[in-house]
Amino acid sequence: MQKGQISVQTENIFPIIKKFLYSDHEIFLRELIANAVDATTKVKALASRGELKSELGDLTIDVILDKKKKTLTIRDRGIGMTSDEVVRYLNQVAFSSATEFLEKYKDEKIIGHFGLGFYSAFMVADKVEVVTRSWKEEAASRWTCDGNPEYALEDATREMRGTDVILHINKENKEFLEDSRIEGMLRKYCRFLPVPIRFGTRKETEWTGEGDDRKSVEKEVDNIINTTDPLWKKQPGDLKDEDYMAFYRELHPFSPDPLFWIHLNIDYPFNLTGVLYFPPIRQSVEAQKNKIHLYANQVYVTDEVREIVPEFLTLLHGVIDSPDIPLNVSRSYLQSDANVRKINGYITKKVGEKLATLFKKDREAFAQKWPDIGVFVKYGMISDEKFHEAALKFALLRNLDGQSFTLGEYKDHIKDLQTDKDNQVIALYTPQPKEHHAYIQAARQRGYDVLECDLLIDNHFMQHLEHKPGELRFKRVDADTADQLIPREDKTESVLSEAEQEKVKTWFAAVVDEEHRNGIQLKALSPDDHPVLITRPEFMRRMQEMQTYQRMGGMDFPDMWNLVVNTNHPAVAGKLAGMADEGQARELAAHLFDLARLNQQMLKGEDLARFVERSLKWIGDPSHPTS
Ligand code: ADP
Repeated sequence: MQKGQISVQTENIFPIIKKFLYSDHEIFLRELIANAVDATTKVKALASRGELKSELGDLTIDVILDKKKKTLTIRDRGIGMTSDEVVRYLNQVAFSSATEFLEKYKDEKIIGHFGLGFYSAFMVADKVEVVTRSWKEEAASRWTCDGNPEYALEDATREMRGTDVILHINKENKEFLEDSRIEGMLRKYCRFLPVPIRFGTRKETEWTGEGDDRKSVEKEVDNIINTTDPLWKKQPGDLKDEDYMAFYRELHPFSPDPLFWIHLNIDYPFNLTGVLYFPPIRQSVEAQKNKIHLYANQVYVTDEVREIVPEFLTLLHGVIDSPDIPLNVSRSYLQSDANVRKINGYITKKVGEKLATLFKKDREAFAQKWPDIGVFVKYGMISDEKFHEAALKFALLRNLDGQSFTLGEYKDHIKDLQTDKDNQVIALYTPQPKEHHAYIQAARQRGYDVLECDLLIDNHFMQHLEHKPGELRFKRVDADTADQLIPREDKTESVLSEAEQEKVKTWFAAVVDEEHRNGIQLKALSPDDHPVLITRPEFMRRMQEMQTYQRMGGMDFPDMWNLVVNTNHPAVAGKLAGMADEGQARELAAHLFDLARLNQQMLKGEDLARFVERSLKWIGDPSHPTS
């Protein structure tokens, strides 16, 4: 038997490995199985080049639990190692790369904690044995290490070519002696590995016979964990829609069906395969994120792809598989990595192309799906300039009549009536068609079109468009009185004298609370418009919304609005202005103010009760001068 020290280094890395990544220590299994897969792939390559003299045989990798011995074994029929190679690879290569890995990344989070390699075994085992026989020779060797820099190497017998890595699981990690725990990990990390992974056997029911003779027989079958040729590795031409749907359901069993998908497949200038699905995206954006699984050569890495794909693409679901995404770097470094940037650019372009094709092929179907993809497209346009350009072809606006327009089409549709005196085309919108009914009516009377937008993202999206020269400007339909929504020169004259107007203003000032007193405006609107209106200036309202949004429900921002009194309405011009009794005039002003608030669902509680009381009083007293 040969004994030795793993390295001349004085620092003992074993205690560090044990503590390192404590929360993620399950990755040891992935690392060891990835090694087994590598060794198997190499032996296959040897065979295909005719260099392997012996039989290739069954290449299935076994994961074996022995609860009595408290061991977990990973057994492959790969290339194996000669005793020289054991010393070179395990004592030198693996040890020094583990040391380097730990030194470099002790404090940083690395994608899926990839790359600790063979020595990750010591996160869960006090003792590790490796029994291995190289494809090149008959002799086998056993390497043993007790979790300190000393190791033992001796001759061993092993019938078959390949390697057993035997972990003596320690007390703190006895969870890894549970079948269900191991099976769960295997399904997570190894589901799509290219070599079959077997974890014992399982029972399967088989039906035989017909009719009355139909019988079920229980059979023990190999418990194979993985699909060795996952859908994303196949040629798109060989796949049907059902295949993509079935794969989606396998990946995301509890999600609603995807709307469509893209199959990514490129080998130059980087290698990337995968399938990205578009789920229906409604309000709950956050819940939909983190559903892209990242693989490297079919080995599961992580489902936290935030640094790898642009934020808006994290709304998609599915798989991306690329050996060209560096996994041994910190997450913060990834965004500046040249390959990662190219990959992002490529995915973004593909997504844009897919949407453009769908739009061209069947615009109606596309428009129907718009409520489910709009968030995604808008999010993309806001965050990625190139995507913005691409999306101008298919991003849609929808008006209250349910018609859809591209941005360009919409500008043409409204520009005749909705261009203001500064030559800006103003689009009107409402997030609440019911609540804004009166304003919408008023706008429509002037021939204006009103867009429907009901998503949080629309605020950001409109702002985004407004920063582009020549694009639309937006105003919520209650931002001003209808005649001023799209300001032009035409103004009607007030029928009231200046003195009468002053008087009317003071009566309203008496019924409005102090902070809104400055917002009282007298306007000569049409007699058909409402007598009193509450408007919320676009700019102030947006500021307020932004504030509330950013504080996420923290301190309340004061509600800002203007009270617009229509001096040409009969209730104002004919009745209120002519009133001699101060008390009655104030009462009427209060009533008109309440009606305006009622229209905006702002009349609540005590104010509402007072309004009802006052109305009843007037109904009961037809001789009352204000009725
Ligand atoms: P990496 O796999 O990144 O090279 P590891 O520390 O996991 O680093 O392994 C070091 C080396 O040990 C491998 O490169 C390989 O040569 C050898 N090795 C590890 N596991 C096996 C195995 N199951 N069969 C054959 N060789 C192996």
